[in-house]
Amino acid sequence: MTEKVHEFGALAGVELWAGGAGSANLLTREVALGVGSMPNVHGHPFQTRVMDKKDIRNIRRWHRAAALRAREAGFDIVYVYATHMYLLSQFLSPLHNRRTDEYGGSLENRVRLVRELIEETKDAVGDSCAVAVRMSADDGTGTPEQPVSAERREIFEMLAELPDLWDINVHNYEHEMGVSRFVREGSLEKTMHYVKSITSKPVVTVGRFTSPDTMVSQVRRGIVDFIGAARPSIADPFLPRKIEEGRPEEIRECIGCNICYTGDSLSVPIRCTQNPTMGEEWRRGWHPERIQPKSKDATVLVVGAGPAGLEATRALGQRGYNVMLAEAATELGGRVTQECRLPGLAEWGRVRDYRVHQIQTMPNVDVFLDNDLNAEDALSIGADHIVVATGSKWRADGFGLYNNKPCLNLGPAEQVFTPNDIFMGRLPQGRALVFDDDHYYMASVLAEALVAQGLEVCFVTPENLVSAWGVMTDEQYQTQQRLMQLGVKIITAHGLDEFDGSNARLSCVYTDRARMVAADAVVLVTARIPTDSLYKEIAGKIESDASGSVPAPTLDKIGDCDAPAIIAAAIYAGHRYARELGTDREQSAVTRQDKLFDPD
Ligand code: ADP
Ligand code: SF4
Repeated sequence: MTEKVHEFGALAGVELWAGGAGSANLLTREVALGVGSMPNVHGHPFQTRVMDKKDIRNIRRWHRAAALRAREAGFDIVYVYATHMYLLSQFLSPLHNRRTDEYGGSLENRVRLVRELIEETKDAVGDSCAVAVRMSADDGTGTPEQPVSAERREIFEMLAELPDLWDINVHNYEHEMGVSRFVREGSLEKTMHYVKSITSKPVVTVGRFTSPDTMVSQVRRGIVDFIGAARPSIADPFLPRKIEEGRPEEIRECIGCNICYTGDSLSVPIRCTQNPTMGEEWRRGWHPERIQPKSKDATVLVVGAGPAGLEATRALGQRGYNVMLAEAATELGGRVTQECRLPGLAEWGRVRDYRVHQIQTMPNVDVFLDNDLNAEDALSIGADHIVVATGSKWRADGFGLYNNKPCLNLGPAEQVFTPNDIFMGRLPQGRALVFDDDHYYMASVLAEALVAQGLEVCFVTPENLVSAWGVMTDEQYQTQQRLMQLGVKIITAHGLDEFDGSNARLSCVYTDRARMVAADAVVLVTARIPTDSLYKEIAGKIESDASGSVPAPTLDKIGDCDAPAIIAAAIYAGHRYARELGTDREQSAVTRQDKLFDPD
């Protein structure tokens, strides 16, 4: 891996890590070592063993050995990792470090292990590797007005010149890794801005930077020396190159949805909403910027300009096909255009904007807005290939995970709402009950939107948490906090059984005990129905004309009209369709590609 990194002119860094109470060692079954005998911070029912002198000597020895191995493996930067509630940050912490030996008590004692590891790592590999320290600018004991304690500042002063590089983050991981709904670009600055004034060594931080202007501003104002960008380079691995070559408008900007993080949470390979090739480079041989040119001339009709249709159009255009994109609405973007108008989701509009910008530069792509196609229209165009990307609609009948058949009694239709109604500006009045059987962001975002309209909102979910799937994207805590702060009444572990226009009957998912809640409207966020009638009609016509003399077009459906899912799935489906058109699709199913990248 390091050879590949060097081949492309970059440096390779490695974070040496000891988890402490942040790791239960579930894989190895070793007893985790801790600054004290502490409960696991993620709630696993395992405590750490309090480290004795021998354990401390071992950690130091292992760290040195790991640094030497890292150098041997070709790494250029070796980290001492003193953050994120892992072992070293707990040694530093006044709250967690209650030791009475020379590694606890006074600040000097609590800093001792970190200092020793920096010095020993420098001694081991400092002649040929840079030694970086990752540490948070605050320690979680401050206030929103004054996030940095005097003591944390003092720690930086004590260690200021020891490392070759300071990699600065913040104590609150939900802030550092924050979704765009709650955290803006470059938002670590207000906490970490002081570090550079303490050290002459270079300082880097992260902050979901995608705007070259924001990056340059932080460097010019002396906040950082260079820019850390993890998610932005997942969304666009060529981000630095595009800046270097003066092509900032071509950056595929991260939208801050944290779908990439769900791979971590679920222990499955990474995926990204904006970059469908992420995680598929090795498996399918997909390059983030390059794509195989078409093997022969053909015209493709794409119906629907949501994320699936836009990405298919963009990638087909890049392959050189003649593409016609027909969209029923008067604007592009489908669900993304609707959803990015909801509270906190503005950055999601980048899914549309990147693709529309690319498409506009392609002379072989024509876009037809305000074109609600029927099957005859679609076939009369005479395209060689038709791909239907007509999306889905939220159900208004209560069917979902909780109600496995449509609800029988849902009251007057004018008092029943779906997300699509709210997108179209049809809003409830009075007391609204939002029933979330979707468990991701939609219901909580709508609840927030309705509160902003002055409605009294009650949020009901069969789960034990608001937006339970938000745990995967690390936004659940902030989501529930937001609704509580907004005064939304939250009822967990209950499903919606009936609504008569003035009362909703709920049942407890554990006991079946019924409970009535007064409401003037229900907003159902349960499941979606694929909008696949156009696909079916075209398929029917092709089949009935099968003996005709004109060769029938190929017909496919992609995205939500095939199977409603997250935006990342629609982008992926659009991309895959475009990649595989004119190829043997069976062959390009999940197989390892021998050849990954051309060196250039
Ligand atoms: P996906 O997430 O799969 O891309 P979306 O719901 O975001 O799906 O987008 C589907 C798009 O298809 C919407 O913009 C919708 O207006 C459009 N659409 C639906 N039916 C037709 C049709 N018959 N002709 C043209 N466009 C259509
Ligand atoms: Fe950014 Fe979302 Fe891609 Fe992660 S999945 S890199 S947050 S666009």
